[in-house]
Amino acid sequence: ASAVLALTLAACGGEGAGSNNDTSDAAPEDLSIGVSMPTETSERWIADGNSVQEQLEAEGYEVDLQYAGDDIPTQAQQVDSMITQGVDALIVAAIDGTALSSQLQAAADAGIPVISYDRLIRDSENVDFYVSFDNFQVGVAQAESLVEGLGEGGPFNIELFAGSLDDNNAHFFFDGAMSVLQPLIDAGTLVVPSGQTDIEQVAILRWQQETAQRRMEDLLTSSYSGGQQLDGVLSPYDGLSRGIITALQNAGYGPTISEGDRPMPIVTGQDAEIASVKLIADGVQYSTIFKDTRLLAEQAVVAAQAFLEGEEPEANDTETYDNGVKVVPSYLLPIETVTADNIQEVLVDSGYWTAEEVASGQ
Ligand code: BGC
Repeated sequence: ASAVLALTLAACGGEGAGSNNDTSDAAPEDLSIGVSMPTETSERWIADGNSVQEQLEAEGYEVDLQYAGDDIPTQAQQVDSMITQGVDALIVAAIDGTALSSQLQAAADAGIPVISYDRLIRDSENVDFYVSFDNFQVGVAQAESLVEGLGEGGPFNIELFAGSLDDNNAHFFFDGAMSVLQPLIDAGTLVVPSGQTDIEQVAILRWQQETAQRRMEDLLTSSYSGGQQLDGVLSPYDGLSRGIITALQNAGYGPTISEGDRPMPIVTGQDAEIASVKLIADGVQYSTIFKDTRLLAEQAVVAAQAFLEGEEPEANDTETYDNGVKVVPSYLLPIETVTADNIQEVLVDSGYWTAEEVASGQ
């Protein structure tokens, strides 16, 4: 029924989410929700997709969950087909934050509310709500843990990495991190021997581990072949951190932060991926940032449910996330820094990973 409704409404010319696809009296069983996730190559998105699906289904909704293999046209096509199949709400974690404008216009025309999931969708007025974490704070926490891991003294040699430039979050992470690091660079406590400190120079397209490994190898060749010690690496995501660590190990760093002729530099991360949690437990990677995807999924479900019931979801931030067209009302969750000292408390006691998973790294 919703497909017919959506098409009829699209033909009539809609006026925005919620205005013409009245679902407020419908039973959840008669409503379906499209969930579009970027990729299955990183376990966090699989966890996100599963949590969103399980929680929506527990409320009775039908769910169409799709992964786009980090391919922009695939994601556009998947969202298009969700709309033509008549979903009643969309939850989207975009690959490229600017690439879905025409799909979102079609959604708005059909009265389908759109929730931007974790990554802000940019340059479209047809984004109704944003659920995420405090992304600037993620970057601050990464940089603070880098500085903490380096310890007293200096000057320390560090290198910087950022995420994919088409992901709005990458900019928030980097800006947050540089708010901590730039003053220390200016003071000479931190030195970036490659000289690469602009986000354009240090970004890794699509957050690819192999690309990060290659860039780290290139940096070692270009800036450290005279025997300079590398002390720390700002890495915004565990997958990149593993690529960076592989490059460092191949170049003779390690085996751990506290052992070896050239100890492993302090490497940060994000997402508490299991392979990286093990590296942290083993003293190879220094830290990661834990973002509880179960709670994010819950907020997405709460927001979708509010829209479907004809209400506005409750925001806790209405200032930060300007998508270039409007400030999108947001619900932001807190983050936690994880080091070897609190893996048990933050990740195991909360049920995110079991002690066995941490021990085996899978
Ligand atoms: C997410 C991070 C993730 C990265 C790579 C970002 O948008 O916020 O949690 O590490 O994408 O998947």
